[in-house]
Amino acid sequence: LLGPDGSLAVTIFEEITTLANQHNAINLGQGFPDEDGPAELSRLAQQAIAQGNNQYAPGKGILDLRQAVAEHQERFYGLTADPETEVIITTGATEAIASAILALTGPGDEVLTFEPFYDSYGAMIGLSGAAHTTAALLAPDFMPDLATLERSFSPRTKMVVINNPHNPTGAVFPREVLSEVVRLAIKYDAVILTDEVYEHLTFGVRHIPIATLPGAAERTLTISSAGKTFSFTGWKIGWLSGPAELVAAARTVKQFLSYSSGTPFQSAIAAGLRMEEGFFTDTAKTLERKRDILSEGLRAAGLDVLTPQGTYFVNVDTAALGITDATALARRLPQLIGVAAIPVPVFCHPEGAHRTRSLLRFAFCKKVPLLEEAAERLATLA
Ligand code: PMP
Ligand code: GLN
Repeated sequence: LLGPDGSLAVTIFEEITTLANQHNAINLGQGFPDEDGPAELSRLAQQAIAQGNNQYAPGKGILDLRQAVAEHQERFYGLTADPETEVIITTGATEAIASAILALTGPGDEVLTFEPFYDSYGAMIGLSGAAHTTAALLAPDFMPDLATLERSFSPRTKMVVINNPHNPTGAVFPREVLSEVVRLAIKYDAVILTDEVYEHLTFGVRHIPIATLPGAAERTLTISSAGKTFSFTGWKIGWLSGPAELVAAARTVKQFLSYSSGTPFQSAIAAGLRMEEGFFTDTAKTLERKRDILSEGLRAAGLDVLTPQGTYFVNVDTAALGITDATALARRLPQLIGVAAIPVPVFCHPEGAHRTRSLLRFAFCKKVPLLEEAAERLATLA
């Protein structure tokens, strides 16, 4: 985890949030909402604390939440999971990712991700000692080239990591992309690790869990998290589900990462997962409106907007403004105009970064007046 100059790595989220705070900028960098999730869930967590639910939860999570995860997967996707052996609760999706990668891959293996990729995949593959291979997602719609995807697989490919809906691009993968991944995972006998933390945040398209495709479930570990669905990113409650042997392997590692995860939040999130469908669709609708407001502002500022179908994020191409280095721009932006964004090249290996070098990622999970103010400030860039 060393930077290019040998210094200790600092995540881009930490770096940009620090700059945003220093310059009192509007932080559209790190993806977290600026409003709390449902008051009822907050009340349930407070009640759990008041009632004394403050000691270690069972290592694999409280039964009520494991059951709620299984019920949620059945209700939305028709997937079944045994809460005893096929579901564990983790400290955010981040710990589920770490546990699965560290448990199942190691030196001599290859782990394949799309590129750009969420930063923790690269870090965890590095810590596992496996080699990190990538297949490029291509602008403007950020889909992989299905005709050449197989070239990214090899007999050493132990795991393929899918992130759908995809951070940072906002792509939501259609069935044909997922089917090709499943076909190749079967052919090369790879485990599929799928990070679906934005599963409920899609705009006009349906999220398809890869585990629902024929032949996928028996080799797929699915990860999600309460942070994005319920707007409580600080509670750090995530989960992982799939075949018992794969879940058991991840659980073995999880024991030594955190042992167990925030007790009073677990029962609150169980109630969240059981909320009526309207809650989930309304959350996505509200977010879609925010996407549109920020996108409009970005367009008015002369930027090329690459419209996302899901997540918290919209990407823009700054090349239209004559900018070729989005990373340098992102470091200057908070001071320059009082807005912070994340450069997309940091989600790529150095060899792949040229494909995204003029792209910036803006988070729109913020109050509307803030998005409007950010758009006004961005207009001064042109
Ligand atoms: N995966 C992706 C794709 C993310 O964007 C994030 C950040 N929300 C995470 C995992 C981490 O989730 P958590 O905060 O639940 O650890
Ligand atoms: N997932 C969030 C994002 O992409 C940030 C999480 C973090 O700070 N590690 O912005």
